[in-house]
Formats: sequence, C-alpha cells, structure tokens
Amino acid sequence: MVQHREDCLRLDASDPLAPLREQFALPEGVIYLDGNSLGARPKASLARAQQVVSQEWGEQLIRSWNDAGWFALPRTLGNRVARLIGAADDEVVVTDSTSINLFKVLAAALRQQQQDAPGRRVIVSERSNFPTDLYMAEGLTRLLGDFGSAGWTLRLIDDPAQLASALDDQVAVVMLTHVHYQTGHLYDMAAVTAQVHQHGALMVWDLAHSAGAVPVDLNGANADYAIGCTYKYLNGGPGSPAFLWVPKRLQGRFEQPLSGWWGHARPFAMEPGYQPSGDVGRFLCGTQGIVSMSLVGCGLDIFEQTSMAALRQKSLALTSLFINLVETRCAGYPLQLITPRDPARRGSQVSFTHPQGFAVMQALIERGVIGDYREPQIMRFGFTPLYTRYQDVWDAVSILLDLLQTEGWNQERFHRRGAVT
Ligand SMILES: *Cc1c(COP(=O)(O)O)cnc(C)c1O
Repeated sequence: MVQHREDCLRLDASDPLAPLREQFALPEGVIYLDGNSLGARPKASLARAQQVVSQEWGEQLIRSWNDAGWFALPRTLGNRVARLIGAADDEVVVTDSTSINLFKVLAAALRQQQQDAPGRRVIVSERSNFPTDLYMAEGLTRLLGDFGSAGWTLRLIDDPAQLASALDDQVAVVMLTHVHYQTGHLYDMAAVTAQVHQHGALMVWDLAHSAGAVPVDLNGANADYAIGCTYKYLNGGPGSPAFLWVPKRLQGRFEQPLSGWWGHARPFAMEPGYQPSGDVGRFLCGTQGIVSMSLVGCGLDIFEQTSMAALRQKSLALTSLFINLVETRCAGYPLQLITPRDPARRGSQVSFTHPQGFAVMQALIERGVIGDYREPQIMRFGFTPLYTRYQDVWDAVSILLDLLQTEGWNQERFHRRGAVT
C-alpha cells in the first residue's frame, strides 16, 4: 500500500523495467502522461534520422530502395509489430495512416460480405468511437452509394453492453476500438469476436490504444482485420505510418480499392493491369514516407528488450496506483473516474471528468504534468510502463491536488483554446 512518496521510490528501485527509461529522451521537469497520443522519443531515433537522411538518402541515393531495405520496410517492420499483437509473420504491413488503413480493411470486409452474405448491409460501431473511424466508414458507404451499391448503414451503440442487442442478420461488419480512447475501456477481444462471428458478421479491430499498451492476440481471438497506430504507445514519432493486419486465411481472396502499384504482384513489371500481390502486400498502396517509417524501428527495438506481459503488469500497477491516489488524496473535489475499475477491463490510461477539466489540464501542463483533454470534461492520463515511474504518479497527483486546493487552474490563460486542444 502506497502512502508516501518514499513508497513510490522503493517501487521504482525494484522495478525490472526501470532501466528502459534511459533509452528515451525526456525533457527535465516534465511528467509525460500523454504517450497514448504521441509517444516519447527513443534516444536512438535522432541518430537513425541522421543516418537515413545523410547516408541512405544523401550518399546512397536511389540505391537505398534495395541496399538499405527501404522497399521492404513495410513488411520487415510489419513482422516486428506482429509479435506485439499476436499476429504471424507476413500478416502485418506498416504503411499509410490509421484512417486510410481502416478504409482499406473495411472495404475488403464489405466486399467479402457482399460475396458471402449479400443481404447484410449494416456496420456496427460505437457512437463514441474515435471520430475518424466513423467518418471513414461514412465516406466509404457514401462512395458505395454513389456508385450503385446503396443501402449500407452505420448502426451505433452507446455503450459496450448494447453490443449483443445490436447484432442481427443484417450486420455485415462490427468495427470497434479495442481500448476506448476516452474511457480506456478494454473489450474482451476473444469473447466479442466469437459473439460477432456467431451472428455471421466480420470483426475489425482498431488497436490504436492497444498496440504496445496491452497484450493482444489477434490470431488467438480469430479476428478478421485489424489496424493501429505506431506513433502512440509504439513511439514511432509524430505521424509515423500505421499498421494493418490481415490473417493468412483471408489473404489472397480479398482486394482493397486503393490498388496502387506497391500492392501489385509485380510492381516493377509496370504492367497496365492491376494484379494484386498474393499476400498481405496487396494492402499496400504507393510510395511511403521512408524517413518517418525508418524511425518506427527505434521504438520497436525497445519493446524487443521486454515482454508485453511484463509491461502489462507494470501498466496495471501504475493505473491502479493513480486511481487510488487521486481518489484518496483528492477526495472532496468533483473528479469522477470514467475508466473501468476492473483491471481486466482497462487499457493503459485513466480518465477523470472534472467540470473545469479543460482549464485544470492546461494548468497541469504548465506545471509540467502533460496529459490531455478530450470533450466532454475529460482529463486523460496515459501511462507508458517503458518510461513512466511510480514517483511520477505520486508527483502528478501532488501537483493536481495543489492546483485543486489553490484553484490555481482558475486563471484566464487556462481557458483559452489552441488549434490542438
Ligand atoms: C489515434 C486514433 C486514430 C488516428 O488516426 P490517424 O489516421 O492516424 O489520424 C484512429 N483511430 C483511433 C481509435 C485512434 O485512437
């Protein structure tokens, strides 16, 4: 039981993951609790960026597509991401953005259902899903309608508990984010996938807040498609390319509409007709941002020194401690936990609402505790066991308590909104 800061220092001293923090460049005086939005920088990424720009590009020029492995990067990095999400070799590519990858897998899933179960026209998701997922589904169904395949609709549930009643013989695809971006609620991937399959629908998982945050077993759960980010818990750098998973059993049969030359069976044959690659490569589109993609490996290098089981254990210890300390030390202030208390049902983040959540978060950031704010009233704190310490949890709560006691958040500058809030 943690009652003093010294207890946290003791936990840090005996933490087997503690040395990994050394591999991150973290600014002095900052407690970074936003690795779920933009992961911290692996120290090695600076030298890697220099190498890519000055050697591979500057010296080797176009020869680097082969000699430096640029062309193979989506697959070589994909195989490394695969180990973190329960995927096999040649089932994952790192490419494009999460939004674009969702479009590709959703289109492939709808095409599959159009062939196997043409009466099914409903996509089920959550109303509070990360908006881009809903927007992309909307854009795809509108496009299908414009080109003569009308009738696809989105059916949105308001709570995970409503999923069962939303499933019927109209449902083609269920598209869920495994760890909810606002609440941190974690779905039971195997149970939900089985339930969705029982109803004859396909399961698409968004792993944006799962990859590198919680153990994931896509093949164990028999899921159908998955996508996710590398710039959040995987520490790939701002806007680093996303990933996409298609199991072996679905490769070869299905196509996606962004049929660019990188997805062609023989891209350098330069043939006029498109013939999809026989494997997961068919989910590629075109030339990738190699400088950014090259940095993804630096984050993965650090994951390869530990295990998701060890990370999960520390993650739950950190999130439980944070919940506990906020609720005891800041008792009496209008903070409401919206993250599941059951450790088995939460990811690696904790969210509290506060009526002045926006201003409180801006004040926290000014004091060096960087979390983020999400509408409505949500203060979100991400815990990344690779570099977050127990003492950081204690100190963050101390600063929060001080701001609440002194109403230090109640200043004009903390109410101003920026372009990214
Ligand atoms: C962060 C996030 C995204 C981001 O998509 P981009 O295309 O990278 O902007 C998508 N979906 C979910 C659920 C996310 O949390």
